[in-house]
Amino acid sequence: MVISIEKFSRATVEGVRTFLAEHPPVEIKVTRRNFDMASRPLRIVRGTCECGHVWTPDPVFIDTLTERMKVFDAELPKGALPGDFYDAIEVKHAWDVETRSQYCGKQITLEVVAVT
Ligand SMILES: [Zn+2]
Repeated sequence: MVISIEKFSRATVEGVRTFLAEHPPVEIKVTRRNFDMASRPLRIVRGTCECGHVWTPDPVFIDTLTERMKVFDAELPKGALPGDFYDAIEVKHAWDVETRSQYCGKQITLEVVAVT
């Protein structure tokens, strides 16, 4: 897994790594280090992989995401991320949830909605 977020604190990087290790169904790669924290908050509804798999973030994923974003001092609604952040990440389908024995690795297209 390649993740490039050197701008963040060590604790954050470790937190993200731990987070990803605990949630192997998808892999998230940050493709640029700067993003507009003031952009419109968006929430992930679901992601669709090129293989056809539909991924839905579970409550643990949402809670963890919300917790991780607190380091930015951003006032974000629960489960939401700055809209610009979604343009700065690539999401891949990793291990299948059922058996954890099949690795996909294809691109997931996220469906996001505005949070008001
Ligand atoms: Zn897939």
